[in-house]
Amino acid sequence: MFDSLSDRLSGVFAGLRGRGALSENDVRGAMREVRIALLEADVALPVVREFIDKATEKAVGQDVLRSVTPGQQVVKIVHDALVEMLGSDASDLELNVTPPAVVMMVGLQGSGKTTTTAKIAKRLSAREGKKVLMASLDVNRPAAQEQLAVLGEQAGVATLPIVQGQQPVDIARRALQSAKLQGFDVVMLDTAGRLHVDQALMDEMRAVSAASNPAETLLVVDSLTGQDAVNVAKNFSDQVPLTGVVLTRMDGDARGGAALSMRAVTGKPIKFVGTGEKLDGLEAFHPERVAGRILGMGDVVSLVERAAEAVNQEDAEAMAAKFAKGQFDLNDLRNQLKQMQNMGGLGALAGMIPGMKQAQAAMASGAVEDRLLVRMDAMIGSMTPKERSKPELLQAKRKIRIAKGSGVTVQDVNKLLKMHQDMSGAMKKLRKMGGIKAMMAMMG
Ligand code: GDP
Repeated sequence: MFDSLSDRLSGVFAGLRGRGALSENDVRGAMREVRIALLEADVALPVVREFIDKATEKAVGQDVLRSVTPGQQVVKIVHDALVEMLGSDASDLELNVTPPAVVMMVGLQGSGKTTTTAKIAKRLSAREGKKVLMASLDVNRPAAQEQLAVLGEQAGVATLPIVQGQQPVDIARRALQSAKLQGFDVVMLDTAGRLHVDQALMDEMRAVSAASNPAETLLVVDSLTGQDAVNVAKNFSDQVPLTGVVLTRMDGDARGGAALSMRAVTGKPIKFVGTGEKLDGLEAFHPERVAGRILGMGDVVSLVERAAEAVNQEDAEAMAAKFAKGQFDLNDLRNQLKQMQNMGGLGALAGMIPGMKQAQAAMASGAVEDRLLVRMDAMIGSMTPKERSKPELLQAKRKIRIAKGSGVTVQDVNKLLKMHQDMSGAMKKLRKMGGIKAMMAMMG
């Protein structure tokens, strides 16, 4: 999902992030590249234009250019513009009506409508404990009703018994009647698909809608059809009051143009995306998370927020001064470790830091654990103040004492010292490259 856009944008931002100062030209140049990246991802042209205009206006503002971390600010602006384009809030299904709540599924043939009906039904019943009844209103395609019955069995969701020859509106009425009698919370109506948006289809949908008064009317479209998917959605929403869109086959869509343009062009939120043929291949669509994923930066926004909470401003400034001088002793390392713990541990942090996805996988697999933070803290705690500020004092005898005092092995102590050496080495290098500003830019 969004792989190529993500790659392109990380290239653009890599050039901005590591720098301490940006000119208006730098920012405009970067925005031109963002524009090309969006167009290559097949985002609708008017949507791209509006996006770039808004983002550029914010990004060339003096607040950004004069800030300590201009590159990071620009990324944040693009992030926020993406979220806005995708539709701000995550939109859940709104089923708070007197039961049974009706969910009407509409879409073209082959879009994945029947599969998606079963996926949503399964999700509602398995995750939310809702009692769901599915009914197929597709009387045109011979095996459509049977297909839904088979999927119902796989999903462990009830389907309305098939009555041959019954017409869609009557099936809808019968489904509602059964649901009321048997205490179902939700009725999912899988309407017939067509090859094109035609009048007969629209008339049928309107009649079913009038007879069943749906709480949600979800359009299912195939993301692989790109801007066609968006046009289909626009056509449908002119005819029936859609409450949301489900984009299928996102597992095969590396560009993401339909997903990116849908909200802006149709005004309708994407509620779910289909991510596979199996019945659990369905994800809720969260604009914030999607934007984070696209920018390959985990959740930078919550990282910045958490960092602000966890790091005391004075500490941060004192630390910055030390970095700037290239001093970094074990006391500083200890402070860093504490802050990491405050921010939710290594695993949580790694997921939020740009470019750390791989590191996170390693951490999640147990290679680095949060227990390690506690142990490192214990080792430093067993050192004398002199040792902490002058790690070179730590020769064999002292190491043995520290290992005993903190319940670890001498190898563990060596590892800690090696890590400290690596970190102070990295800081010295960083200082040569552009100092604290570059460092802050990288850290957010
Ligand atoms: P309908 O004609 O709109 O009801 O479409 P179906 O539900 O019968 O789906 C058509 C095909 O698309 C089936 O082979 C599904 O397994 C497949 N399909 C549906 N959703 C997805 C999805 O999100 N990802 C993938 N890879 N395949 C899907």
